[in-house]
Amino acid sequence: MALRFKNSYTRRKDDFVPIEDNKVKVYTCGPTVYNYQHIGNFRTFIWGDLLRRYLLYKGYDVTYVMNITDIDDKIIRDSQAKKMPRKEFIEGYVKAFKDDLDSLGLMRPDVQPYATDHIDGMVKMIQTLVEKGIAYEVDGNYYYKISAFKDYGKLANLDMGGLKHGARVASDEYEKDSVSDFALWKAWQESDGDIFWDTPIGKGRPGWHIECSVMSSEYLGNHFDIHTGGVDLMFPHHENEIAQSEGCSGEKSVNYWLHGEHLIVEGKKMSKSLGNFYTLRDILDKGFSGMVVRYLLISTYYRQQLNFTFDGLEAARSALERYNGFISNLESYAGADSDGSADAVIEKAKSGFEDALDDDLNISGALGAVFDFIRDINRLKAEGKLSAEERDKALETIKKFDTVLNFTYQTGASDDIDEAEIEALIQKRADAKKNKDFALADKIRTDLLETGIILEDSREGTKWKKKIG
Ligand code: AMP
Ligand code: ZN
Repeated sequence: MALRFKNSYTRRKDDFVPIEDNKVKVYTCGPTVYNYQHIGNFRTFIWGDLLRRYLLYKGYDVTYVMNITDIDDKIIRDSQAKKMPRKEFIEGYVKAFKDDLDSLGLMRPDVQPYATDHIDGMVKMIQTLVEKGIAYEVDGNYYYKISAFKDYGKLANLDMGGLKHGARVASDEYEKDSVSDFALWKAWQESDGDIFWDTPIGKGRPGWHIECSVMSSEYLGNHFDIHTGGVDLMFPHHENEIAQSEGCSGEKSVNYWLHGEHLIVEGKKMSKSLGNFYTLRDILDKGFSGMVVRYLLISTYYRQQLNFTFDGLEAARSALERYNGFISNLESYAGADSDGSADAVIEKAKSGFEDALDDDLNISGALGAVFDFIRDINRLKAEGKLSAEERDKALETIKKFDTVLNFTYQTGASDDIDEAEIEALIQKRADAKKNKDFALADKIRTDLLETGIILEDSREGTKWKKKIG
């Protein structure tokens, strides 16, 4: 059977056919960097990584884009509450996010664009929508006129019958019962402080939805293969993305929409607003490794809810020990006489693994095939029926599986800080200031900030501290 995905747009399992030969273009809505991501967020990013790795396993050439939402209502609210400039406020969380990706064994995205680097593109898209009569301005705010887009509501399966024409919603997040014209651009207001962009459509800032439409088309083109995210993004975020992108280009934007179910805690979505969340750091502090968290979060089919428990983490730890123990024991196994049955065991494992993942990334089936394989090879070993040559084939097989599962990675010491180097940079910055080279001085400060180091100037000189955590 061919690779197929449950497509939220068609509500069917559709065979996967890339737009262009062997190339697959994937866009994933990335983090909103106003806080640490919790492990619920990472569940979504981890099955995105599974998708990407399985496409690579199948030989596709994959371009994987994940944006960073570095401007939205919540970022303004929280950076102001902390009295920090927006850029400084978000950088610590961007760095933390990238470190967390490493701890969890995710491949870094091929492109990870910041929304605020694409304001020009957003302005152009809004201008096009206005020219086409799909967007309109009220007091410097721009809204999307949903009645002008005939397919509005198709993704989230909305009943558009009771639509109140002309109703508008300004906030980035809202529920289905407030379906209405939504904000593309928000005019500056006093409460925004110094957070604004001066543009041909006025002084203000973009709405959240337009950000993803612009970044996806910038890096993947108007029409690309797969878009992923958690179910909570289906409405309004993805519905609005489709309306903006397709309204602007006149083309279909995305062929396959994949939405993952939530990580839940005692029946409720893990979320920042409910306060029932754990960050990855919380879990690492309790003595679990990133890989154990990876195992737990990856091991349930993405379209099924996963209930988070510490027992689940313990079970993940045992499964990983079995998996890694199998590989190291096999590596040191000398080999015996073959009874010729290993080939069939390997073939069965491969087809079990691939058939399951081909079926909308059915990971439980794939892991079932992997653990059956471990049991069967261990039995052959114990019975003295596995030759050295078969051992090598078995190792090659599990290592190929591991390119998808990634349960053997080493976590880098990304938290290591070179204090001498920081002190040297602080000195270089002081010298730059003395020479009135303020551009260089600023650059040193922002470069350090990117690595999670914050500088504090005082009469006694400059001190540094780790950004967050
Ligand atoms: P955010 O930073 O809030 O924009 O969320 C980043 C990603 O995490 C989005 O794709 C969300 O749909 C997803 N997400 C948020 N909460 C959960 C959860 N409890 N379980 C799984 N995914 C989630
Ligand atoms: Zn998005």
